[in-house]
Amino acid sequence: MTIATAPERMGAPADRTGAPQHLNFIAGQWRAAEGGAQFENRNPADLSDLIGHFPDSGAADVAAAVAGVAEAQPAWAAASPEARADMLYRAAEIIAARTPGIAAELTREEGKTLAEATNETSRIAANFRFYAGEALRLKGETYPAPGGQMVLSLRQPVGTVAVITPWNFPLSMAARKIAPALAAGNAVVFKPSEVSPLMGQRLVEVLLEAGLPQGLIALVHGKGPTVGRAITAAEGIDALTFTGSYAVGAQIQAALGTDTRCQLEMGGKNATLVLEDADIAKAAGIILKGAFGLSGQACTGTSRVLVARPLHDALLGRLAAAAEAVVIGPGDRAGVTMGPLATAAQLEKVGRYLDIARDEGAEIVTGGLPDQGELPEGHWIRPTVIAGVKRGSLLLKDEIFAPVVALCPFDTLEEALEIADDTEYGLALSVVSDHLPSVLKIAEATRHGIVKVNAPTTGVALNAPFGGVKHSSNQSAKEQGGANVMEFYSSLKTVYLGA
Ligand code: NAD
Repeated sequence: MTIATAPERMGAPADRTGAPQHLNFIAGQWRAAEGGAQFENRNPADLSDLIGHFPDSGAADVAAAVAGVAEAQPAWAAASPEARADMLYRAAEIIAARTPGIAAELTREEGKTLAEATNETSRIAANFRFYAGEALRLKGETYPAPGGQMVLSLRQPVGTVAVITPWNFPLSMAARKIAPALAAGNAVVFKPSEVSPLMGQRLVEVLLEAGLPQGLIALVHGKGPTVGRAITAAEGIDALTFTGSYAVGAQIQAALGTDTRCQLEMGGKNATLVLEDADIAKAAGIILKGAFGLSGQACTGTSRVLVARPLHDALLGRLAAAAEAVVIGPGDRAGVTMGPLATAAQLEKVGRYLDIARDEGAEIVTGGLPDQGELPEGHWIRPTVIAGVKRGSLLLKDEIFAPVVALCPFDTLEEALEIADDTEYGLALSVVSDHLPSVLKIAEATRHGIVKVNAPTTGVALNAPFGGVKHSSNQSAKEQGGANVMEFYSSLKTVYLGA
């Protein structure tokens, strides 16, 4: 099956070079931003490749979007659970049938390799299926009450849900929010990242094709904070679910009033702990995947390795060799195992942390900027391994969000735990060891929301709770995975029936 581009479907114009001029979807119609402003989107692996233009929207577009979906929501809430589930199942089928085409566009827009993009795309089909089932399983309860009376809870949609997503998993993050929101009977106002707007649009197209009532979802594109701020300030948003950086999440939390339910899933500074009994080759393989997979641009990506001192040098050697064997390049090129960073800002950020490493006297064992060689102009960085990092360094505390990993030795389990938890974040921690008492002690004691044993920090089960603590999450409902997220997208009303 081929995918028609959105402009082909909607008759939106192209610019003089043929690059499509995409549109918002508001009140059941594809339309430009009020005032007509646009921003452009380019392939991070080849900056000469213009993907398209997208509306640079403002408060008026957001207001129209919120008003539009509010009109459509009551009918959707009144629809049968089977009807909601069927629509989500159909969406899953459409995505499954189009996975190769959508994955290729994801690679072009965000930069991850085709294998990674295929994995993300097929996982969202699975995600839609999972929440289709949840539409049927929503339930309230009855409570013991004096004779002749009944007390029960009714589970209802919250109303209009605003969905604000990052670029690094542009399909997956959005699907993990939109699917449960719709399953529970809500309307959605969706603001995808300006770095990956095409993927947001593809998701909306699939839902409309699957039979979602036209007015029930609004897609509002925009560059910078304008649209997000307008959503945060808008009247009529009942719940806001956000995934992105802590800096932006904190602004959203501060700006929202008490009437709006808020879910914030934010950054991570994830560590892999390699205990003294670990097999070095196995540990290196786990770290390689967690640190350099997805170009290190995963919220659960490994950016610290805390290693038992006797294993330090051997592990460092293995990791450096593995990093040097990674083939960087455009994600659709045969043999490439790591794509570019998604943005120029990401590349600048890496540069700042490499300067910190040099200033602090740490050793950049391998990595840094590549020779341009045969690479097109893009945001390139080599997988980077830093050793000799001192405790307290920002390299062990800040999220860098790139294929950069800092090694630090430890002498005792207590010290390893102290270093692991000495960061504002608390998302994913992994341990490489077969020593069960140590593994359990770490799992119990650490302040991270996810603990993985003999596995990379990255990679999560879609049917299990997912979320962090501290600056990684506002812990509203173990946010982005499993059935428990339905709590966030629905509310309970307690009803007392007298005799
Ligand atoms: P970001 O915070 O810069 O942007 C996220 C979204 O917020 C974008 O759509 C952006 O346009 C919007 N936005 C920007 N300013 C806003 C404002 N003032 N008000 C409301 N919305 C605003 O994040 P990013 O760079 O797109 O994504 C990377 C970050 O996301 C990393 O910190 C990463 O760890 C995090 N992330 C977390 C998870 C998780 O599940 N914990 C998953 C993926 C990414």
